[in-house]
Amino acid sequence: MGIPLAQQLRIGAYILRQRLAGRKRYPLVLMLEPLFRCNLACAGCGKIDYPDPILNRRLSFEECMEAVEECGAPVVAIAGGEPLLHKEMPRIVEGCLARGKVVILCTNALLLEKQLDRFTPHPRLTLDIHLDGDREQHDWAVSQKGVYDRAVQALKAARARGFRVAINCTLFNNADPERMARFFDDVTAMGVDAIMVSPGYAYERAPDQAHFLNRRRTKELFRAIFARGRGRGWRFGNSPLFLDFLAGNQSYRCTPWGNPTRNVFGWQRPCYLIGEGYARSFRALMEETDWDSYGTGNYEKCADCMVHSGYEATAVMDAVKRPWKALWAALRGPRTAGPMAPEIPLEGQRPAEYVFSRHVEQALAEEQERQKRERERAAPQIAAE
Ligand code: SF4
Repeated sequence: MGIPLAQQLRIGAYILRQRLAGRKRYPLVLMLEPLFRCNLACAGCGKIDYPDPILNRRLSFEECMEAVEECGAPVVAIAGGEPLLHKEMPRIVEGCLARGKVVILCTNALLLEKQLDRFTPHPRLTLDIHLDGDREQHDWAVSQKGVYDRAVQALKAARARGFRVAINCTLFNNADPERMARFFDDVTAMGVDAIMVSPGYAYERAPDQAHFLNRRRTKELFRAIFARGRGRGWRFGNSPLFLDFLAGNQSYRCTPWGNPTRNVFGWQRPCYLIGEGYARSFRALMEETDWDSYGTGNYEKCADCMVHSGYEATAVMDAVKRPWKALWAALRGPRTAGPMAPEIPLEGQRPAEYVFSRHVEQALAEEQERQKRERERAAPQIAAE
């Protein structure tokens, strides 16, 4: 398994403390998005479709640390956009580590090799490189040729320097199980410490809407891949029960508050994948969000979601509640044959709301106001000089 024991114990102890304190909802992974700007434009991405004034915004080091402390989650996943475009990224990573966090730095790796000197290996730091498959598959997924080769070169360089390296692999409906199995063999031979898998989320703003998986197809695909994995030494970074869920053996409900998201708009409601509003503080996010109106079976936009940012927290919490079940899943591996667990009925779900344009307009107005205040603040200073 690709999650170091010390990190498993750290996260398990945190969950036990929350349970002993009687907390009903608590975060496990802070999804920190300090910028939306990216140096790729992947067809399946719904994260970067913003006007320039928003893409140019950054969360400062201070704002990032405030979010880390306010949230209190034991793990911080730094995503984006492309985090390595943020000038303060090494300082942000160091700041999270200094606060005792497990840090996952997600990157498409285009800038990684050039920037390796700016980071220091640490047992709690993982460089999580986006690789959706072999050369042909990955270059298709990121809509640019040559990206796979550069990412693999950076991956090898990072391994050689002693960094802990994972790959972050998102699957779409054109993934072929046999090819994916060969790809997992390849990255295992390269020495990656963990393979993180997830189906893609059907972002409403993604340019390519034709390749997202539905739930049934997701489960069949993962069963077909996992069935090929026995004895091949793949080390997954996902929890054993999340993998079992992907293979259709667990009827989990999503836990959107498990991976709260802080980005340039604020605290995103309800989850990393959909932005239906923004809270000013983490506390307001937790207390004022109508959590029951989201999740598969409750909301149309959640119908096909089986993404790790919604369901990994459910699986991890289940593992802490029933350690014997998690241990059995870890020893046996995901079950790849036999009946699947019952699916969540969709009849009662509320229809999707489309709020993107309203949020962008509001964010643009706020950005103009912020820039105006900055100009006003700077004016007397310039006059004095
Ligand atoms: S199912 Fe959960 S994680 Fe997935 S989109 Fe809905 S609220 Fe977000």
